[in-house]
Amino acid sequence: MASRIVSETLTKLSQMGDVTLHEPAGDSPHSERVRRSRKQEFNFSDCIANLQTPRGPKPVLKTMMTTACERNCHYCVFRAGRAKTKRVTFSPDEMAGAFATLQRAKQVDGLFLSSGIIKGSVATQDKIIDTADIVRNKQRYRGYIHLKIMPGIEYDQLYRAMQLADRVSVNLEAPTSERLHRLAPKKIFVQELLRMLQWAEQIRRDHPRERLASSVTQFVVGAVGDTDLELMAMSGKLYAQAHLARVYYSSFSPVPGTPFENLPPSDLLREFRLYQASFLLRDYQWDVEDLPFLRDGNLRTDIDPKQAWADEHLAHAPIEIMRAEREQLLRIPGVGIVGADAILRARRRGKLTDLSQLKQIGLRMPQKLANYVLLDGARPARQKRLF
Ligand code: SF4
Repeated sequence: MASRIVSETLTKLSQMGDVTLHEPAGDSPHSERVRRSRKQEFNFSDCIANLQTPRGPKPVLKTMMTTACERNCHYCVFRAGRAKTKRVTFSPDEMAGAFATLQRAKQVDGLFLSSGIIKGSVATQDKIIDTADIVRNKQRYRGYIHLKIMPGIEYDQLYRAMQLADRVSVNLEAPTSERLHRLAPKKIFVQELLRMLQWAEQIRRDHPRERLASSVTQFVVGAVGDTDLELMAMSGKLYAQAHLARVYYSSFSPVPGTPFENLPPSDLLREFRLYQASFLLRDYQWDVEDLPFLRDGNLRTDIDPKQAWADEHLAHAPIEIMRAEREQLLRIPGVGIVGADAILRARRRGKLTDLSQLKQIGLRMPQKLANYVLLDGARPARQKRLF
């Protein structure tokens, strides 16, 4: 009997396919986007994603408790009333049983669990939590769990989810309340979404000895006129105040049968530049004001934002590699965190006078630095044979 239930659940899962296609969850969001022709049938592997998780690369079961939803976000395939969406629902026992079967068969090692909203956020979140509770405490699974947080849940629910998971996502969807209203009219920006991220940080601060989940968020980019400046301003605030592990930027892609079906898809290159800019805020201690926005509030898509900034600020005022502070070194295109530390170590041992020495200490593309640095007082000579 139990095995029949598990087998039916696995069939339901495979019929759903990759329901979280537009919901990146790992550290390489671009590789998660699988392109599939419309005629192709779903198969079971569609709901297993190979993710770069904080515990390393893992095959993760990435799925939803239900594809039914009472909300009506304008971009979403699961929105209430969309006739084409197949609605499939799992109980916590079903979902946990299917996960255990797959995990024992070594097909998955990790769970990413989202859901449409039915009977309110609180009841929906309870089902997600109950599933994670079974997986962690009855099945004794110690691996990676990532849980979605429904908008406007209770503080204690968030705390419980953070005890069970490695990571929780609260998707803000938009960088401002006005933009959110146009994307998702039933979601409330501050009370239902932003507050969840603030609570998550508060919970970590209140329970410093507990192992609690990190938090992430996601924006839908390009459907309602959001600018890169708005997205980066909110991302910067979230990194600084709510200590988010990362921010995801998902290019809008129109879904047939939704109010946004005739809008153009947004540019994937824009999404890529947003990630580059976001890492400058998170990992390189840049302020939002440092980012080289154009007059319309967007970043150039033809060039990496770090290089756009350097062209403006360093081409005529190069940084002296032998004397620069670490923070200054990190401003130079081609110098990452590892590279800056390698330069600091190497210059204690002696002078760095040409680009080939930078290559020897591990900088992969020293030619990228040439226009922006001085090496012991001189512009570097370009040494073609080295590159
Ligand atoms: S609440 Fe979530 S699942 Fe429901 S319509 Fe909005 S984005 Fe889609």
